[in-house]
Amino acid sequence: LMNLLPLPAFTDNYIWMLHNARQAIVVDPGDATPVLQTLQAQGLQLQAILVTHHHADHVGGVDALRAATGAQVFGPARERIPEPLVRLAQGDTVEVLGLRFSVLDVPGHTAGHIAYYCPDMQGAPLLFCGDTLFSGGCGRLFEGTPAQMLASLDQLAALPGDTRVCCTHEYTLSNLRFARAVEPGNQALLHYSSHCESLRARQLPTLPSRMALERDINPFLRVRETAVAAAAQGFDARVPQQDAVAVFAALRQWKNDF
Ligand code: ZN
Ligand code: FE
Repeated sequence: LMNLLPLPAFTDNYIWMLHNARQAIVVDPGDATPVLQTLQAQGLQLQAILVTHHHADHVGGVDALRAATGAQVFGPARERIPEPLVRLAQGDTVEVLGLRFSVLDVPGHTAGHIAYYCPDMQGAPLLFCGDTLFSGGCGRLFEGTPAQMLASLDQLAALPGDTRVCCTHEYTLSNLRFARAVEPGNQALLHYSSHCESLRARQLPTLPSRMALERDINPFLRVRETAVAAAAQGFDARVPQQDAVAVFAALRQWKNDF
């Protein structure tokens, strides 16, 4: 039986851990301490470290964990990640804990950002998407263009609806405040917002999310919806409503200023 745990780190990061009560993997360990504490407390051996992109809050614990456990490190082909590691790009697969993950290239937040998709983790798909897709939002465009990021998000949105979406930040409530400004009439969004507010009031994670839900509530996956395109044009009158990239770029700018 496999367990999926979000280990809180820093102020709003999650380091995702998958374990089978003996062996574990972690994704984007920005800090080694919470990982080492969990390994020790539960008597687990770390087999592998999966990295999605080069930012310090995702790789800061890699060297210490590799040194302490001997775990193998996997990461993006085209980014500066603490060596040694197995470098991956679209179409590659990683087999860990008896699970097979496909690698997806999702540039936009960073130029070489990758995601890890497992089509069957105990009956349902599982996605580790780093800082590309958040619940109700998406990552900032530090190194990519709006066209690249929209293509990356479209690729993720096309995954099966029951895909569990493991994002690396607890940004959900602030993303949903923005989403409600974009789509005040979206009933699924209003319902999900109150659900997440009650989770956070009890200090519980809002993650993992589900892809079908994100398609219904996340404005950055909904740039071809009439209401979303109209709202983007309300923010910037020059945006052509039929131009998905322009709508996406306007939404991203609006969120940056929100
Ligand atoms: Zn990042
Ligand atoms: Fe991050």
